[in-house]
Amino acid sequence: MSILYAVGHLALGHICGFLTSKASKTDINMPLILLLSVIPDVDILIPQLQHRGPTHSIVAAFIVFIPFFIVYKKKATPYFAALTQHFLIGDFIVGGNIQLFWPITTQYYLSPFGMNIGIKSPVNIAAEWILFIASISIMLKTNQAATFLKPHHSNLLLFIPLLTVLLPTFQNFPVNVPTWLILPHLAYIFIFSASIITDLRGVLKYIQHALRKLCFRLQAAPLETNLYASPHLVSIQY
Ligand SMILES: [Zn+2]
Repeated sequence: MSILYAVGHLALGHICGFLTSKASKTDINMPLILLLSVIPDVDILIPQLQHRGPTHSIVAAFIVFIPFFIVYKKKATPYFAALTQHFLIGDFIVGGNIQLFWPITTQYYLSPFGMNIGIKSPVNIAAEWILFIASISIMLKTNQAATFLKPHHSNLLLFIPLLTVLLPTFQNFPVNVPTWLILPHLAYIFIFSASIITDLRGVLKYIQHALRKLCFRLQAAPLETNLYASPHLVSIQY
């Protein structure tokens, strides 16, 4: 049985999202694409869910996306591609067992085309590097990389992708990362952290500004009260 590391899932999700956005002539929100690329593995953190169970089902994904297809039409396609590539390509075709048709059936399916490549094998490590380089090249060539450093609240969505690269690299959870793949993991950690900090700085500035305005009003309030409370001024007003 083999799977991809977070780096492979993120890179493949980005590439699939990018290609479908080109085909459908729509723009993509990078943090959301990256979040959807790894979100099926949230089942690792939920004890009630089996790994590669309902969150890896094409039927469940389609049901969840029906309202988005109705509202956003073709604009939803890149996000659907980013989500479904995780289990259709990253887990199923590469060789993992998944509950492909949950809730119709809880049976786990193994792809007949499963490549059965070991996760720590040189072939898998090379494949993850190729996907990573391809994804970074697209980001640089299309100027998507610059969007990470623009303050936008969607940058905070990168907190989940950040955890998926941070935990395996430093906590060996849920798998330990081979030495050869530490560099792309660190690169993603750096990019996602920078993007989150960029937005948080904007949020902090906003809070600082709001607090200053509040302090100014609080300082001005007693003065106004005293002015109106003054009998002299009251008499002038009359
Ligand atoms: Zn998975």
